[in-house]
Amino acid sequence: MRTNINTDQIHYMNTAKESVDTTGWSKTNTPVHIPILMFHSISSGNSLRVPKEQFQQEMKWLKDNGYYTLSPEEALTVLTENKEPSKKIVLITFDDGYKDNYTVAYPILKKYGMKATIFMIGKAIGYKTHLSEKQMLDMSQHDISIESHTISHLDLNSLPAKQQEFELDHSKVLFDKMFKQNTIMLAYPSGRYNNETLAIAKAAGYKMAVTTEPGSAASDEGMLTLHRVRISPGMTLPAFARLMEIYGIGTSGAQALKSTKHV
Ligand SMILES: [Zn+2]
Repeated sequence: MRTNINTDQIHYMNTAKESVDTTGWSKTNTPVHIPILMFHSISSGNSLRVPKEQFQQEMKWLKDNGYYTLSPEEALTVLTENKEPSKKIVLITFDDGYKDNYTVAYPILKKYGMKATIFMIGKAIGYKTHLSEKQMLDMSQHDISIESHTISHLDLNSLPAKQQEFELDHSKVLFDKMFKQNTIMLAYPSGRYNNETLAIAKAAGYKMAVTTEPGSAASDEGMLTLHRVRISPGMTLPAFARLMEIYGIGTSGAQALKSTKHV
């Protein structure tokens, strides 16, 4: 890791990645909703693991149906400026940073030219079951963003403020330095947070945070309490397509949501 670098230089390098080219995007009058898909491990064995074949089919479906995959920076622009690159947008996310995100999911994403975001647990870097720094550096050069899932993966709502600050500040600094980026997004471990967490996340510099609350993400939910769409193992492709119909059609998705029960 570099040590001879000062904060100003890091800030300078970080700004380039942050600016989003919105040429060709359209401005909308109503708030745009984004389906933020939530995956964990791409393997099999429990209710959080989506098998490779299922994941592959879902990514192919998104590609075949013309979905535009957003980076976190693009998602921020969509939500805060009500501009969209396409009527069909999606943010693909993985929690925890399992090694199979690199060995299984990444080749599939690459094949279809799709962007995705991994919420990494700071202390799990290099664990046998989790991503290494090298794997993350490789992916971060190829459209996969690494964002924060804290350092220790503890329920933030049960921690004193000082410890929450540690979890949020240190993970941001760690990933800012490791990927020479401005880490803007956070996923709360197990979706748990309290009012203190929100203030601490804001002060730490996060611009967006996701929960495990079901639904599409929109700025009126609060940028630090965005909803997600959980993809479960065993979900059929028609069920996935139906979820995307409900949550994944940009501005009109917001309308559909009002008249459709949660599935
Ligand atoms: Zn997690």
